[in-house]
Amino acid sequence: MKRIRIKNLLTSPVVGEVVEVKGWVRTKREIKNVAFVSLNDGSTINNIQIVIDLNTISAELLRDITTGASIGVTGKLVESQGQGQSVEIQASEVILYGKCDSETYPLQKKGHSMEFLRDIAHLRFRTNTFGAVFRIRHAMAFAIHKYFNDRGFFYLHTPIITGSDCEGAGEMFHVTTMNLNNIPMGENGGIDYSADFFGKETNLTVSGQLEGELGAMALGEIYTFGPTFRAENSNTPRHLAEFWMIEPEMAFWDLNDNMDLAEDFLKYLISYALENCHDDLEFLNKMIDKELLSRLRFVQENSFVRLPYTEAITILEASEWTWEYPVYWGRDLQAEHERFLVETHFRRPVILTDYPKEIKAFYMKQNDDGKTVRAMDVLFPGIGEIIGGSQREESYDKLAARIDELKLPMKDLWWYLDTRRYGTVPHSGFGLGFERLILFMTGMSNIRDVIPFPRTPGKAEF
Ligand code: ATP
Ligand code: MN
Repeated sequence: MKRIRIKNLLTSPVVGEVVEVKGWVRTKREIKNVAFVSLNDGSTINNIQIVIDLNTISAELLRDITTGASIGVTGKLVESQGQGQSVEIQASEVILYGKCDSETYPLQKKGHSMEFLRDIAHLRFRTNTFGAVFRIRHAMAFAIHKYFNDRGFFYLHTPIITGSDCEGAGEMFHVTTMNLNNIPMGENGGIDYSADFFGKETNLTVSGQLEGELGAMALGEIYTFGPTFRAENSNTPRHLAEFWMIEPEMAFWDLNDNMDLAEDFLKYLISYALENCHDDLEFLNKMIDKELLSRLRFVQENSFVRLPYTEAITILEASEWTWEYPVYWGRDLQAEHERFLVETHFRRPVILTDYPKEIKAFYMKQNDDGKTVRAMDVLFPGIGEIIGGSQREESYDKLAARIDELKLPMKDLWWYLDTRRYGTVPHSGFGLGFERLILFMTGMSNIRDVIPFPRTPGKAEF
């Protein structure tokens, strides 16, 4: 096949040669004896202009070339007389692959709302905005693998169905093959899971971290990159029930190493996007968020503030701001507090460390003060928390005591505790929410618009 993708055609135009392109019609206008068709094939946000001499095409075929129709075009690539493009194709042959019923096609006019486009998520890929978002999403996934591979991290696949329900990151979705109309009950009134597929209660994972730690205890540096599920009923523009997470875990790394990695990693991803997603970012900067490019450059060029939680509370308490949720030591920060620190007080990304142990997970390394743990949350402008991580508790005794204190089921965690009995080492890691990253990279404002098919409470279409 000699078909050229439009991106390649526009980056290195072979003026004077005959080329073949295939794609979907964006617009068509007719002036005198010529039709101008704007064609997009998804390889780039840019369209190629096709010029059709009306004497060379049947009236029927011309009529079927409507917005949304799929066509193939062969013709000579020439320099364009018109404005807005450098080259165009003088069509010598046009074939129609699929008509597009203009009566019912929902993407006729520009300016649809994001909500409307969410309801037609099967077609929204064809808009400029979603084309740009999903090309950037791809580029980020690729850059993430490249970053870790280049630094000797191993990609570890942690399970999606998990047998532990104490990962501590959120509400879980049950996985079962039991007949829900006839659930087997045990002797003391509870459900008899021994009759279920796995012979025990199972759930969709909320995080690959605990299994990731097992890998790091032998492979050194690993990362996971997979789907995670949280049955939290939070209808916010920052939460999904199904989202993707990147979780590096590193043996012999302490909290400072962990913070260095998080900062370097995020800056690398910004640089990668600026270098490789130029046209899409320009488009989003123009149409979606006028401060997108300047914000990306700003975060890339400035060092992140690193601040203990206790000092953050002092700053928040001293501010004149009226909070919806009051702040005091011991309380988890709300989005309004995180965004105040990042957007108003420091005006740059902030890594908060050493949170009270009560508001963080059981596995975080306990500080000598007996009150705080070696946690780190990376807070970003416009987003709030983008990364959550920590140094892990490597002492068997301290970890077991904390599990006991929180009344977590020790018997379900025997395999996790084994790492602390057999050659334990200091280690650290974090979780980056992939969709929160894409929100930041694209300037989109709702997390439902940066994943192809969002799952949120009450919504699982497509
Ligand atoms: P939040 O307080 O914002 O709900 P969290 O403390 O529950 O976040 P972690 O359990 O630390 O988050 O998860 C690590 C990262 O995963 C977060 O920093 C965030 O980027 C992302 N994340 C967490 N929950 C969701 C969600 N429901 N949808 C999308 N991304 C999420
Ligand atoms: Mn959460």
